[in-house]
Amino acid sequence: MLPTNSSEKLVSFATPISYKFECSVLNAVVKLYSLRLHNFDIIGMIFFDNISKQYNHHTAALRNVTLRIQPKEFISVVGSSGAGKTTLLKLLIREEEPSEGKIFLDGFEVTAVHRRDLHHVRRRIGTIFQDYKLLPDRTAYENVAFAMEAAGRRDEEIHEDVPQVFELVGLTDRMESFPHQLSGGEQQRVAIARALVNRPDVILADEPTGNLDPVNTWEIIKLLQKINELGTIVILASHNKEVINTIDKRVVVLDRGMVVSDQERGKYLL
Ligand code: ADP
Repeated sequence: MLPTNSSEKLVSFATPISYKFECSVLNAVVKLYSLRLHNFDIIGMIFFDNISKQYNHHTAALRNVTLRIQPKEFISVVGSSGAGKTTLLKLLIREEEPSEGKIFLDGFEVTAVHRRDLHHVRRRIGTIFQDYKLLPDRTAYENVAFAMEAAGRRDEEIHEDVPQVFELVGLTDRMESFPHQLSGGEQQRVAIARALVNRPDVILADEPTGNLDPVNTWEIIKLLQKINELGTIVILASHNKEVINTIDKRVVVLDRGMVVSDQERGKYLL
């Protein structure tokens, strides 16, 4: 389901739309290759290079954060409310700009991408939120199809891929339901289907179980684990200690914007 080699990814990155666009993509690809030749194995698939984020004079949301995330990793970013988890995720999709530092995705400098080319970066990252963010007046199917339309995918691809992704999240029989006809757990599955349908390299999940009961919480976590096993990086931001400690994967602890712990198969002990 996911592109497996980097040349495939480069081809999809370089879809020509206009001459100007081709030039900017070409520059980015050249830059990507030169970076790759020297650094890729060292910097990882995602690299937060000494990132600081100051929203205003009083709030340092992130301070000198350096993180390398390798392909296929499942990483939990934990910390109490206000620790900087959401800010970290927003920086990766350029919803916010860092005050200092650089961010790389697959050797490509996210923080240097021109605004008009940002959709190339965002297409490689699927996002899931605590409150699902589904369009209320569209069916589950339409919510997912809309994400493909927005990415410029053809009707035939949409008809083929949407049912497949609903099968993956176990909701084939609810595709025609509207969000208000679905439980919270089901709505979050639709949101996961939407995040997955454009075959991202990375899933960002920001407190995805924050509104769910324990049973649905585990269902969603199991689904994220399955997606990760299929090869997608998952970055889970959460303050749910029980969930994090059961996942038994890498845990990065943020405290007032700083990484205070980063452990393989870690625990959330704060
Ligand atoms: P978390 O996700 O861990 O709860 P956030 O990244 O949301 O933490 O917030 C980190 C800090 O940045 C907090 O002190 C928060 O109040 C502040 N912050 C977040 N977003 C903004 C914003 N848009 N403007 C000003 N301060 C913000």
